[in-house]
Amino acid sequence: MTSVRLDGIGELVTNDPRAGIGSLGVVLDASLVVADGAVVYAGPQRTAPAADRLVDVGGRAVLPGFVDSHAHLVFAGDRAVEFAARMAGRRYETGGIGTTVAATRAAPDELLRANLARLVAEALRQGTTTIECKSGYGLTVADEERSLRIARELTPETTFLGAHVVPPGTDPDSYVDVVCGPMLRACAPHARWADVFCDDGAFDADRTRVILAAAAGAGLGLRLHANQLGPGPGVQLAVEHGAASADHCTYLSDADVDALAASGTVATLLPGAEFATRSPYPDARRLVDAGATIALATDCNPGSSFTTSMALCIALAVREMGLTPAEAVWAATAGGARALRRDDIGRLREGTRADFVVLDAPTHMYLAYRPGVPQVAEVWHGGRRVVPHWSGAAPVR
Ligand SMILES: [Zn+2]
Repeated sequence: MTSVRLDGIGELVTNDPRAGIGSLGVVLDASLVVADGAVVYAGPQRTAPAADRLVDVGGRAVLPGFVDSHAHLVFAGDRAVEFAARMAGRRYETGGIGTTVAATRAAPDELLRANLARLVAEALRQGTTTIECKSGYGLTVADEERSLRIARELTPETTFLGAHVVPPGTDPDSYVDVVCGPMLRACAPHARWADVFCDDGAFDADRTRVILAAAAGAGLGLRLHANQLGPGPGVQLAVEHGAASADHCTYLSDADVDALAASGTVATLLPGAEFATRSPYPDARRLVDAGATIALATDCNPGSSFTTSMALCIALAVREMGLTPAEAVWAATAGGARALRRDDIGRLREGTRADFVVLDAPTHMYLAYRPGVPQVAEVWHGGRRVVPHWSGAAPVR
């Protein structure tokens, strides 16, 4: 076992309030020691244990790797023209998903696998060390099964989203029967989670209930696309069914906010979708003030949010959704881990996975303070440096 000690950490974000300052558990002048893929020490440099190898990060900030708990990465084709039309004034509608479904069904496995690998690598380069991936562009038993089988090759956080939309020309109730029957049976072995797009133009409350119950019966954890396009029953259904996360949460009633705050269901906010559909952002401030747990994720997909940048989501959450930089960074790391019900990621303390980012900046605040600037200098995944390295002089405050 070779241990590595990172010294000269100007600011270490642990997300462990007992270890340091504030909810981020910030430790100044810190060291991080990793061995066998795990953190063995995260704290002040003066009390750090010895290690086999020393790396000095020159005063840079270190934080947990981003946890992107909502993404749709198995697809073919793009929708750049639809995006441009929307920016010219056309409204976002769920029907655009059909374009991606047709391209995905027509694509060979190798193409889907290559597209997925490219996006996961792109996310990793930007500091995302855990990424969730949904199916939902197949919408047949065979195409949903292969989407999840391919996704599982690159991430353990796979989500069955056969209930993304009803395929055009299909009777909705017969489709729900397929989703809950043969499709669920084929997909469950490759999935940890199930999700339903509960919104106008997708699945109503009754059909959502039926699908959630079937998925839970098959042993899958639950998450839900809820209240994205307008007010609706999604959040209440997520809470009722003990879902790990209600995602989007753009249009919430007071009762929805109260239900989230009183539950173990995380509100996952996806500002990339509002950005790319020129829609109102969710009110993160209102959720945090009510005591709800929030996560930030990219919703990366070719139609309504084609970004893998968690740093962009952090900057938008701060500028447009009322969060402080610290709250946004927490939501993009520890919050994402909560939304995936994981306690081995999203924090840096003894025993957690050694998944972390070295920023070419002195503090986490720079993620929102310097939007659009590539500041991820290194990414360590399972204790190995997979993205090197900063260049040039150390940051100065
Ligand atoms: Zn989504």
